[in-house]
Amino acid sequence: MNNLAFFYPDGHENHYEFGHPERPERVEAIKSALEEFGYWQAYPRLEPDKISKDVLWAIHTPEYLSRLEEICERGVHFDADTYTTPASWDLALNSAGGAIAIARAVWLGEAQRGFALTRPPGHHATSQRAMGFCLLNNIALAAENLIQEEGAHRLAIVDLDLHHGNGTQDIFFSRGDVFYLSTHQYPHYPGTGWLNETGTGPGEMKSANFPLPPFSGDREFSTVMDEFILPLLSRYQPEMILVSYGFDPHFDDPLGNLQLTSGGYGNLIKQLVLWADENCQGRISLFLEGGYDLKAAKACSGAIVAALLGDKFPKRYDQSLSLVDHGESSTFTSILEQTKILWELT
Ligand SMILES: [Zn+2]
Repeated sequence: MNNLAFFYPDGHENHYEFGHPERPERVEAIKSALEEFGYWQAYPRLEPDKISKDVLWAIHTPEYLSRLEEICERGVHFDADTYTTPASWDLALNSAGGAIAIARAVWLGEAQRGFALTRPPGHHATSQRAMGFCLLNNIALAAENLIQEEGAHRLAIVDLDLHHGNGTQDIFFSRGDVFYLSTHQYPHYPGTGWLNETGTGPGEMKSANFPLPPFSGDREFSTVMDEFILPLLSRYQPEMILVSYGFDPHFDDPLGNLQLTSGGYGNLIKQLVLWADENCQGRISLFLEGGYDLKAAKACSGAIVAALLGDKFPKRYDQSLSLVDHGESSTFTSILEQTKILWELT
């Protein structure tokens, strides 16, 4: 078994728009950092899987899929934020196919951990629309494929991006087989992700949101991991953890106001890895969402791949930068208290 498997989205540079923050350089920055740390050369890269119609149609409506394909053919915007090019349809299928391949390899024990450079990203894409730079919901398709093709019954998606993964939450909101947990800046784009969004029907109490006030950093994230995410994972006991990772909670990211450092990010992944080792045969895979500062992406990707492998974090590009400590805010404390009452966590 390989300790790690990568997915790299060949040809992704053909999905771009001049001046747009969701740009090919993001993935190249991560790749170059991993090369520098020696990880890129050491582990295999998987080819994307072909996605079955049943899996695609379980996550996105056939109407949306045809509309998206047609919009990509014309290379026009889906909405104000979300561009396409004539290459985008194939690249979106490629990105989702890569997510599926990574999740499956880890599920089957062919690789111990997975790290997917999924681009275009996915967590804002709902069953019926593209939005927030996302076309197809990569992580949702990866989870659905494990359920349909590999017999998974209980999966957890942990979303650590700056933004709430409204698409992923929406897709699984009334299902009990995928537990969606997210921490994100609030209020912020896309406006969802408040505490009271907890799921319906069989999905009741299977969507868990921790809205973070601006300026939350390593300390707050660590508290959320210890007192919210890990206890809820222990209660649900997923067979595998799929992580939506974005580097936009980093303090240097231009789109947000959170203050996570690369070391802080590494620690979050380390805790999830330890939990997975103890509870679900070490099955954990990471799928790229956002993150728009290239230096932050390099620093964080080194730290989180090291965490996946149980290595010491490599040199931190951001360690010399000073951060203003705003202290734990009363808003954070109040949200933590409300969360504990709602989820009966003591
Ligand atoms: Zn984001």
